[in-house]
Amino acid sequence: MNTIATYYAQPYLKSLEAKVLAITEEGVVLDRTICYPEGGGQSGDRGSIGGCPLLDTIKDEQKHIFHKVQEPTFSVGDTVSIDLDWEHRYHYMQMHTAQHIASGILFSRFGIGTVSVHQGEKALTIETDTANIDETLCYQLEDAVNKAVVEAHPVSYEVHTQKEAEALPLRRTIKVKGDGIRLVVIEGIDTIACGGLHTENTREVGLFQYTAQEKIRGHVRLVFSVGQKALEDIRENRSVVMKLSALFSAPKENLAAVAEVALRQAVLDKSLLQRKGQRLAEVMLEALVTKAEKIEGIPVVLWKVIDDLDFKQIAQVFALYPDLALCAAKEEEGRLLWLVGLSGKASSLFDFPKERAALLTSFQGKGGGRPPLWQGMGMGEAADFLDSFRRLLE
Ligand SMILES: [Zn+2]
Repeated sequence: MNTIATYYAQPYLKSLEAKVLAITEEGVVLDRTICYPEGGGQSGDRGSIGGCPLLDTIKDEQKHIFHKVQEPTFSVGDTVSIDLDWEHRYHYMQMHTAQHIASGILFSRFGIGTVSVHQGEKALTIETDTANIDETLCYQLEDAVNKAVVEAHPVSYEVHTQKEAEALPLRRTIKVKGDGIRLVVIEGIDTIACGGLHTENTREVGLFQYTAQEKIRGHVRLVFSVGQKALEDIRENRSVVMKLSALFSAPKENLAAVAEVALRQAVLDKSLLQRKGQRLAEVMLEALVTKAEKIEGIPVVLWKVIDDLDFKQIAQVFALYPDLALCAAKEEEGRLLWLVGLSGKASSLFDFPKERAALLTSFQGKGGGRPPLWQGMGMGEAADFLDSFRRLLE
C-alpha cells in the first residue's frame, strides 16, 4: 500500500484527487498525497479529505503515510479530493526556510551551532550549542536573516549518495542513512540535509522576528516568529502596550517606570491594609471578650463576622488569648465560612473532633485543623451556625 507522495516535487500544490486504498485504525491510506506527514520538527498536514476534516498526517516506521480523517464518509475505492489547510502548511514552509537561514548565519557568522529545532503553531525555536548569547547578537541575527529574506535567495534541492553527502562541508553531520540524501540549498546562505518542506525563495519568509531566549540543558534556546505570525505577534504586543498605556496614563517610554511605581505602591497599600485589618480584628475581639458570656469562668465568644475581615486575621488575634472559646462565622459569596478556636481551658468545654459531625452535618460543612483551631466552609446562615455551636456547649 505505497502512497505516491507529491509534496517534494510540488510543495505548492494545495489540492489533489486521490483514490482511497484503505481505511485503517491508523488512518486513511491514499494512492497519492500532497499531505506532509509529521516528522523532523514539522507538524503533519491538516485540511480535509473527501469533505471530512483531516486532523493530522503521520507516517509509520515503514514510511507508510496515514491520514487522520475524522469520521470518514467515503469508502475504499472512492476518488476523493484532498484540500490542504494552506495557511498552516505555508507557515511551516516559511518556518523551515527561516530556520535554515538563521542556523546557517548563526554558524557562519557567529560560530554558534544548532543542536535541535522545533516548529510550533506560533513559534520557531532553535536550541544552540552555546551557554550564553547576548541580546545584541540576537538582534544582529534578526537583521541578517531579514536581509537574506529581502535579498531573495533561491532555495533548491540536491540529492546525493551517502558518500557524496558526507564529503560535503556541511555545518551539521547527516542524521539519516542510505543513499538519496536530500540537501536543501539556500543559495549563498546554507546547505543542509533536510526532509522538510521549504519555500522556493527566501523572499517568501516575509518577516523574521527574534522574540525570546530561554535556557535548556545548559544551552540557549532562541525563540522566533515568522511570516504572518511575526506580524500578528507585533500587533499583539502593540495592543498590549496601548492598553497598558491607557491604564497607567503613561506613554510607552515611561510605561515600565510608571508600572514599577504603581506596583510598589500596591505592595505598601496591601501591607497597610493588612495592619489596619489586624488592628480592627484585635479591637473587635477585645470588645466581644469583655461582654462575652462565661462558662466555668471561660469567655465564650460567638462572632458573626460582617466586616471586611478575613479569617486569617481572626485566627491571629484569637492566638492572643490564653483561655478562650471562639466560634466565628461569615457569609461570603453564597457560602458559609466558619472557625472554631478553643485555647487553654476552653478545650474542656468542647471536644471538637467528637462534636465535629454534630456541628457540621446540618451545614454540609467541610474543613479541618488541629487544636486549638479548626476552620472550613459550608452552606447556611452564620447566625444558625453560632447557635448550633452554643447549644453543643450545654
Ligand atoms: Zn528544512
